Amino acid sequence: MKKLLLGFMICGAALLGAAEDGIRTFTFGNLKFTAFQDTPVKMPASLFRNADKGVLKKLVPNGKTEASVNAFLLRLNDKNILVDTGNGGRRGSLSAKMKQAGIAPDKIDTILLTHMHGDHIGGLVDGGKAVFPKADVYVSEPELAYWKSSGNQLAGRVLKAYGDRIRTFKLDSVVVPGIAGLSAKGHTPGHTVYELDSIMIIGDLLHAAAIQFPHPEFCPVYDMDAAEAVATRLKFYDKAVQSGKPVAAMHLPFPGVGTIARDKSGAYVFKPVAP
Ligand SMILES: [Zn+2]
Repeated sequence: MKKLLLGFMICGAALLGAAEDGIRTFTFGNLKFTAFQDTPVKMPASLFRNADKGVLKKLVPNGKTEASVNAFLLRLNDKNILVDTGNGGRRGSLSAKMKQAGIAPDKIDTILLTHMHGDHIGGLVDGGKAVFPKADVYVSEPELAYWKSSGNQLAGRVLKAYGDRIRTFKLDSVVVPGIAGLSAKGHTPGHTVYELDSIMIIGDLLHAAAIQFPHPEFCPVYDMDAAEAVATRLKFYDKAVQSGKPVAAMHLPFPGVGTIARDKSGAYVFKPVAP
């Protein structure tokens, strides 16, 4: 019995080690799905300015809640498809972790952007150069239109580095075979959820699991149109509950993959899925 217990403990420690390196691979049907933790994050609850302070205090007593910056690599139809690219620069570790996993940057065929905030596009460039020399980069039409006219320097560098390899698509259409880009406007003007048969990649539909599953109406300062962001959040929470399909999100605690259900009181709850 003692031996068995020891064996279990060693096995548990090995699993913990795997979690700590920030790379986790899942299989969903014919899809190989790898989650990378680009940057660990403790998110200040004070960023939720429209939230009731008493409720917030109960949910997050020490004022900071576990979050993350994740990016996801999909192996589908013999293509390597990366969804978002993390912070890049000194903060981001996506590049190093992809190297550790044996994926060279020139092996990425396609990059799908959920939106163009810095923690999603920063990893596309190193200085002014494209990090992924062969990838086409897809972004929704309204998202690109907004950032093109924003004067944002990082967005400008990305657009320049990728040139005509930046591709746009209409929201609520098929982007590449097997993946639809669904309108999830609110967080940004062209924020996109990517839906496959086996999973939905919900981008920045939420930022803090501990706060926004019990209270989807609470928005961080990053949601550009708060009312629209709340409506969109509820719409996709309900879609996930009804379909039972796993979701993956960029700021859920790593590895950021799980299902959404409703408890007896009707509150949304997140159930992480193990690889
Ligand atoms: Zn983000």
